[in-house]
Amino acid sequence: MAAMLPYGRQSIDEDDIAAVAEALRSDFLTTGPRVEAFEAAFAQTVGARHAVACANGTAALHLAMLALDVQPGEVVIAPSITFLATANCARFVGAEVVFADVDPLTGLMTPETLSQALSRVGDRRLRAVLPVHMRGDTAELPALEALAASAGAVLVEDAPHALGSALRFGNSVERVGDCAHSAMATFSFHPVKTIATGEGGMVTTNDPALAERLRRLRSHGMIRPEGGDPWWYEMPEVGFNYRLPDILCALGLSQLAKLDRFAARRRALAARYHERLAPLAPLLRPAARPDWSDPVLHLMVALIDFPAAGKTRREVVEALKARGVGTQIHYIPVHTQPYYRERYGALDLPGANAWYERCLSLPLYPGMADEDVNRVVEALIEVLGG
Ligand SMILES: *Cc1c(COP(=O)(O)O)cnc(C)c1O
Repeated sequence: MAAMLPYGRQSIDEDDIAAVAEALRSDFLTTGPRVEAFEAAFAQTVGARHAVACANGTAALHLAMLALDVQPGEVVIAPSITFLATANCARFVGAEVVFADVDPLTGLMTPETLSQALSRVGDRRLRAVLPVHMRGDTAELPALEALAASAGAVLVEDAPHALGSALRFGNSVERVGDCAHSAMATFSFHPVKTIATGEGGMVTTNDPALAERLRRLRSHGMIRPEGGDPWWYEMPEVGFNYRLPDILCALGLSQLAKLDRFAARRRALAARYHERLAPLAPLLRPAARPDWSDPVLHLMVALIDFPAAGKTRREVVEALKARGVGTQIHYIPVHTQPYYRERYGALDLPGANAWYERCLSLPLYPGMADEDVNRVVEALIEVLGG
């Protein structure tokens, strides 16, 4: 049998390994010149003024909440279809989460689902709305920004799925991470994401005060005032050790240089999937693409009518696995997690539930061959159509 295709994986070449080896031979293992170089290259790539590297995507979200001074009892809105960390960052600072529903065909928070969530904030103070560019397709940021602003809040894009993705309105192209509509955008370089550093994250912003605060909070809340004695540092507030080491920034720089190639490969594989999966409708349809979205897909999500196929999702997952096709579920609705159910009670978010009932993430990563897509689709036809 052919090798197992995972749902996602990193692409590491010899030159990535050489870049890390070079960092290991240098004077700096933790904070050195590669941190700033990676930040500068990342800011330029996404079109933001500032980029602040940090330990991982979860730390990026935590730093964003801290930089906004989100306080206990205040409210943050997050979609229910996302990774746990999008909601958890509110709890890290003692804020409460109001879960927004999602469009069951895209998995995205929409102006409608955000409006519904806004009506559940009550007389509490809303500070931030966290749209997730689920799978790599982009949320409708201009409309979400307007709604958030009308409630006195800003957007913080949780963008680990969408490095390289854009929004297009007429002739205007807005890159994810350029913060045209948000206070900040957060990224992750976990191995399944578009570029990998192992653990790693980034926050982008156009606001110099936020950038400075993020840098301070990522390193214990310390500053070194200009003109101070050479040993002098001060701690005006408590921060964390959320730094990204030079070794990993070396890998990040090397990976970022390949983003165009990775993106082109992801686009080509996604196009092939769309073409090959078309005959399986209506039993299976790829997640829908909004009009404005110009995605570099992180996940290839199929929405499957399992009852119509006469199989449970577990049976399908196991039958695909037996054929060498790895899959994953993105995501279990976060509002149904025991911690949140205990805190907020049972919520009725029908879009999130409908998405969850149908979603199945198929293998998608730059190292896949065209024939691998054919193999996945043939396995699906056998398992669903048989
Ligand atoms: C991966 C991911 C995170 C967390 O990133 P880590 O680097 O694993 O901490 C947060 N939000 C979303 C949407 C993600 O996909």
